[in-house]
Amino acid sequence: MAEKTPEVVIIGGGFGGLYAAKAFDRAPVNLTLLDRRNFHLFQPLLYQVATGGLSPANISAPLRDILKRQSNTRVLLAEVTSIDVGGKRVLLREGEPIPYDFLIVAAGARHHYFGRPDWEPFAPGLKTIEDATEIRRRVLLAFERAERATDPKIREAELTFVIVGAGPTGVEMAGAISELAHIMDVPVEVLRDKVNVLQEFNPMLGHRGCRLGISFPEITEMQAQAIFEAACELRRDGKNPFPEVMIPLVGSRPELHEQKQIVERVALATQKAYGVKVRYLIGTMIELPRACMVADEIAEEAEFFSFGTNDLTQTCLGLSRDDAGKFLPSYVLNGILPEDPFVSIDRDGVGALMKIAIKKGRKTRKTLEIGICGEHGGDPKSVVYCHQIGLDYVSCSPYRVAIARLAAAQAVLGERSP
Ligand SMILES: Cc1cc2nc3c(=O)[nH]c(=O)nc-3n(C[C@H](O)[C@H](O)[C@H](O)COP(=O)(O)OP(=O)(O)OC[C@H]3O[C@@H](n4cnc5c(N)ncnc54)[C@H](O)[C@@H]3O)c2cc1C
Repeated sequence: MAEKTPEVVIIGGGFGGLYAAKAFDRAPVNLTLLDRRNFHLFQPLLYQVATGGLSPANISAPLRDILKRQSNTRVLLAEVTSIDVGGKRVLLREGEPIPYDFLIVAAGARHHYFGRPDWEPFAPGLKTIEDATEIRRRVLLAFERAERATDPKIREAELTFVIVGAGPTGVEMAGAISELAHIMDVPVEVLRDKVNVLQEFNPMLGHRGCRLGISFPEITEMQAQAIFEAACELRRDGKNPFPEVMIPLVGSRPELHEQKQIVERVALATQKAYGVKVRYLIGTMIELPRACMVADEIAEEAEFFSFGTNDLTQTCLGLSRDDAGKFLPSYVLNGILPEDPFVSIDRDGVGALMKIAIKKGRKTRKTLEIGICGEHGGDPKSVVYCHQIGLDYVSCSPYRVAIARLAAAQAVLGERSP
């Protein structure tokens, strides 16, 4: 007689319950996961919901979705009220009892009030979405009342928050509240001044690329977060994204190092928040002559190089592309320049810098992937040149892809023909 498949029941779809459930993937059992919520809550980010940084949906993932590929598993929305150990059944608030051969209880824990549960209404704990949204409601209301208060004492009282517990959650919560205060206190004039400070005479050589990220790390953080949230969501859907994060306008190793640390920190936190792993690379645009000259140092940090040949042309020739239209055509017409350097790579100048960067970069990192991005990537002559100097790829605007492919194929065939 065939043996009966064992029934395994898990109570709770938190970290404990989920890890246990995943361990049974493909095991010869029937697995039932019961939770009174139909989502898994990522508790470490509750403080972000409590301070308005994230919405509840950002930190909740449907349990059915997480386990949908596990064919021996069903997920039920049900609250367990007791366990009939003798009868080997769990009893539910609603519905039939669920029989089990093996039972795992992973129902989590609650905070406590040192024997004073009557404190809870005044000082909510931080364990559920409801706790977090209630704290957020109270914190934001306190800011509103403080703003309207004319008496400085009332204002101060409204803006005084007490957190009990200085573990990681308490400390993060305190940091998030003070950040919130910072955001809420910035008057419009201050913002306007900031915008004025950022106006420039020559934006092409000004406060942009990694320079902006160094002055305002939150910009890099926000961009990295967008990349990694998108990647993690794809990963959760069973896809295999492989983001390559490119830091622009780097001219020295410390600039890249600084920005890379931010990206790595955000990547780690986002993967942790989603509970998935994403493969990624961090590299840089090479678009300044200095970057070419110190490419060996930059390659200590960069996992790939991409020549930004438009800006490398501007900085190498000291030409502003936007202004060059007035005189460049006559240069080409009179044979002073063989070709418009923004159309086809200037081999003697820009090309020479690229060769230095390739040699130095690969001296530090043998397998360094190097390519170009920009309009040159769609110019057949430049594509052939890129192949000759040892680049791995060219990237160009979509409508030039067909030309670039053809040019790349011709470059390889040209090499093979006698
Ligand atoms: C604010 C906060 C920040 C944290 N930060 C970190 C951190 O940075 N790093 C870290 O490692 N840990 C952190 N932790 C701790 C970590 O989140 C917990 O240790 C972990 O979530 C516990 O997992 P669990 O599966 O045991 O319980 P839980 O995640 O609490 O899951 C229990 C599950 O059981 C369900 N359940 C409970 N009773 C019933 C019932 N009767 N019937 C049906 N279902 C039921 C619940 O709905 C819930 O889904 C933090 C916790 C909090 C609250």
